[in-house]
Amino acid sequence: MQCVSTRGAGPVSLAQALAQGLAPDGGLYVFPLDARPNVTLGTTLADTATTLLAPLFHGEPLDAGALCQAAFTFDAPLLPIDEDSFLLELFHGPTAAFKDFGARFLAEALARLSLPPTTILVATSGDTGAAVAAAFHRRFGFRVVVLYPDGRVSARQAHQLGAFGDNVRTFRVNGSFDDCQRLVKAAFADQALVAKHGLSSANSISLGRLLPQMAYYAHAALVMQQRGAAPVDVIVPTGNLGNALACLMAKRLGLPIGHVFLATNANRVLPEFLQTGRAEPRASVATLANAMDVGVPSNLERLTHWWPAPTALRRDVSADWVDDETIRRTIGTVWRATRTAICPHTACGVAVRDRLRAKGHRGPLVIAATAHPAKFETIVEPLIGEPIELPEGLAALLKKPAIARPLEPTSAALEAALG
Ligand SMILES: *Cc1c(COP(=O)(O)O)cnc(C)c1O
Repeated sequence: MQCVSTRGAGPVSLAQALAQGLAPDGGLYVFPLDARPNVTLGTTLADTATTLLAPLFHGEPLDAGALCQAAFTFDAPLLPIDEDSFLLELFHGPTAAFKDFGARFLAEALARLSLPPTTILVATSGDTGAAVAAAFHRRFGFRVVVLYPDGRVSARQAHQLGAFGDNVRTFRVNGSFDDCQRLVKAAFADQALVAKHGLSSANSISLGRLLPQMAYYAHAALVMQQRGAAPVDVIVPTGNLGNALACLMAKRLGLPIGHVFLATNANRVLPEFLQTGRAEPRASVATLANAMDVGVPSNLERLTHWWPAPTALRRDVSADWVDDETIRRTIGTVWRATRTAICPHTACGVAVRDRLRAKGHRGPLVIAATAHPAKFETIVEPLIGEPIELPEGLAALLKKPAIARPLEPTSAALEAALG
């Protein structure tokens, strides 16, 4: 499949786009989103993913089926929380957040492309870094350098980020996530630095993460269709617009997905963009849903490429934002009603469901549950008054010692850290 940059460069093959991450002109790789009616519900998520992705990998040096079987070794089950809402649990991977799907798929793809020695440079607001580190940990020919904003991730996230060792090096940056993202972008713009370290990106700008994220929406939408609920409306908690864009892409590829509701925290660039058509870049503010503390959503450039007309965009997508007080209240009310603990990001999605219902929305809603609540236990446990059991993978990581070196938010400091 041919990919081009949102800023015009290309075309390149999908394999090349996966290997490069960001396009050389600074744009994001995109491809034609033509409806493909032949996606069928498989027995497993990996099977559905294969029928979805195989046509895109036609003629490429990568076997979509092999990638899907290797990457999707855990499920994305639908958990009903009342008769008409379902949590799409995306946190059953090794680092307990949805990022595992994209990171594992990308790692499988890059490992099969026999690249020269590669440094995966990744900025993280909390969960991406761990998922990418886990996916590339001890993979021959790869090293991972993780940048996270010091003091802006949960204690367990920080521990997890520093706990890999071996070919993973973790830096806590004296700044915000936007600073981390800016450093990574500047590094990729420096061709000499890119060549010296074989730099490659694993941020949500990589198609290698977006493509596999379509798979769980496809699977869930087909399951809901089988139950007679098609097309189903979906709510996605969002920051950088990676997970939500994947849902929209799946819709455009013909999956039975209805309207997509974006749920942000107090960083409300996306709701404002959908209202006014303008995205005012802002410094990010710290919230309880820290993995969505994004001032400038990097995938916005893809959204406006694929949905150039505001009317068409608004037909498919809406957005609303949720403050910290509502996040807290929602975690409490969901717990009392269902005995289900949800993470603060997922709570943004459930809060948006509550508002939609109050405004008269009818019919089933699928809400992406983006992380396991145990990753945010200092927020969630006091609200539900009970300890949350740790998932196995997370428990194993938290038992290991963790090391993160400090880093000033300058390109010179990053260059020195890369060695
Ligand atoms: C990354 C993340 C998000 C936001 O996803 P985007 O793709 O950046 O929109 C939401 N929730 C959790 C738990 C995350 O880790």
